[in-house]
Amino acid sequence: MKPWLSFFIFTFCTMAVLEARSKVVGDSKQTQTPERGGDTASKSVKISSVGTPASNNGHGATDGVVKFGDDKSSGMGINKMASYLQRHRRLDRWGNVTCGVCVFVVTEIRDMIRRATAVQTIVQEVIKFCVNFKIEDEHVCKLIVPQFQEEVLYVVDNLLLSPDEACGIILGDACATPYFPGEMWNVTLPDTPKPIPRPPTPPKPGAPTLRFLQLTDLHLDFQYAVGSPVPCGEPLCCRVDDNITRTSTLTSHAQPGKAGKYGDYQNCDVPIDMLIALFSHLSSIQDQFDYIIMTGDIPAHDVWSQSRTQQVYHLTALDKLFDQYLPNKPVYACVGNHETSPINAFPPPGIPGQDMGWLYGALAESWGKWLPSSAMDTVFRCGVYSMSPYPGLRIVSINNNYCNNGNWWLLLNSTDPCDVLQWLIEELQSAEVKGEKVHILMHIPPGDPNCLKYWSFNFYNIVNRYENTVVNQFYGHSHQDWYTMFYDNLTFQRPVAFGFVSPSVTTYSLNNPIYRIYTLDGDYANSSWAVLDYSNFYLNLTEANLSDKPQWQFEYSPKKAYNMTGLYAKDWDDLLKRMEADDDLFQQFYLHNKNMYPRTPCHGNCKTELLCDIIEGRSYDPDLCSKHINVT
Ligand SMILES: [Zn+2]
Ligand SMILES: [Zn+2]
Repeated sequence: MKPWLSFFIFTFCTMAVLEARSKVVGDSKQTQTPERGGDTASKSVKISSVGTPASNNGHGATDGVVKFGDDKSSGMGINKMASYLQRHRRLDRWGNVTCGVCVFVVTEIRDMIRRATAVQTIVQEVIKFCVNFKIEDEHVCKLIVPQFQEEVLYVVDNLLLSPDEACGIILGDACATPYFPGEMWNVTLPDTPKPIPRPPTPPKPGAPTLRFLQLTDLHLDFQYAVGSPVPCGEPLCCRVDDNITRTSTLTSHAQPGKAGKYGDYQNCDVPIDMLIALFSHLSSIQDQFDYIIMTGDIPAHDVWSQSRTQQVYHLTALDKLFDQYLPNKPVYACVGNHETSPINAFPPPGIPGQDMGWLYGALAESWGKWLPSSAMDTVFRCGVYSMSPYPGLRIVSINNNYCNNGNWWLLLNSTDPCDVLQWLIEELQSAEVKGEKVHILMHIPPGDPNCLKYWSFNFYNIVNRYENTVVNQFYGHSHQDWYTMFYDNLTFQRPVAFGFVSPSVTTYSLNNPIYRIYTLDGDYANSSWAVLDYSNFYLNLTEANLSDKPQWQFEYSPKKAYNMTGLYAKDWDDLLKRMEADDDLFQQFYLHNKNMYPRTPCHGNCKTELLCDIIEGRSYDPDLCSKHINVT
């Protein structure tokens, strides 16, 4: 076995561990979406549609298609993209891997697999590599590699991309894999012209309001063990496992510490005691919200030891908590990248032997209680749905694990997997015709470099087309508190939309647990269905563990804290510009961004990175940030 073979397989496997380690905004793996040449596209696996056959118009270059060919940002120089990736710290992880090595390895590994090298030989070599190079401790190495063997070996064996293209996905544009904008895949918009943009108008004073709760990124850990050592030398601590003495070269730097009853700020997830305390508290204040949105990620970060059965068990456990403590509150959810096993693995329909029925069926069981039967077909097929909880308001739940660069199945074909975006257009067009307003739920913020570029660009254009209809968007995944902007896709100056990126319930990592309650304009005739304000509530974990009395405290409301006149896209854009100029205001935002866990003040590159994260509503567009702030 040549060392490069184990290296390459290992890179796939360790991505998941690294993913588990990196939940700070801008600290996840970089990648790029594949180029789809005609030859490649024609050989790609057949992807079936979420919509009806008649509604699937394909992605050809016809009238109404969102076009990218003239987009200067797609032809950006390598230096500019390298700078973008550096800003997102995407190059650090791959600092020792050159493009030449990558291309060589991809070529060789594909040939080796095709020469039928025994799978177990590959797996054992990778485990040895993982242990010998002290990437993780032996316990994690032995479990993480088999988790991914089926996915990785199948994908590499069936890879239809050239080695250059594959390395472009792994290493990004900085890997000298240029884009060919003409080959960008495009969703098809209807012929109906875009209505004239109508700036939102605030409701009259005294107009009725609704309120709804958002929970995101619970990451419940049933193996959480009070008193276990922290840190522990593994990607996830505070666990029963950590009480077992084992040889680990990584624990030598461990400081004395014990996991608290309600959690720990370091790499620990949520104990059931904390979740029960949260649900008990929410039950006591249930008159303060009308319904709940849940934006994904229920299981813990022990991605090396999970199974499908365990993931479904977590889903069911959460359902029981909702049933027990909040039985009359409708819950509208979307699916996170941790719901599946192995992590991030969402093979699109049509790949032989791969079927997401185990998860989508479980989601249908969980979500179906609050959805009309007409919404269930798309849950079973793609993990998405569209439903109207109130006349005039539509909730569209998107599964954007189909844009996740950690979803290796997309190496086989990343062109609108499951036709989710084409389906979204149909839902938005229908809503526009009916005069409905839409709230979009999805897990991964679409501007995050976790989200593949072309999916992200298409989504950005869809939001642009339906700016009068999509009034609010709600994301999770980052575990921290921020928002992301959408500007008009001609000048990129006029704010047309934004999305809330909500802080997590999990403490992973260096977070206080947070939940959020929004105030919404509705429910009355001609409601705007726009969020008017929200309130965050947090648990001071140190105090909770010391007192054994978890007290949820008010954190802030943006209108007051940031002196905003409203929560429309123009107001968030205005806040962005004010934060650039007013450092006190920015530092206040930064404390909220870090979930009230005190940090050193954020200046220089730290400040630029966070402001750029907000500006970049679509991924891999390094020109976007400098259109709005001074990027040095
Ligand atoms: Zn998460
Ligand atoms: Zn996530």
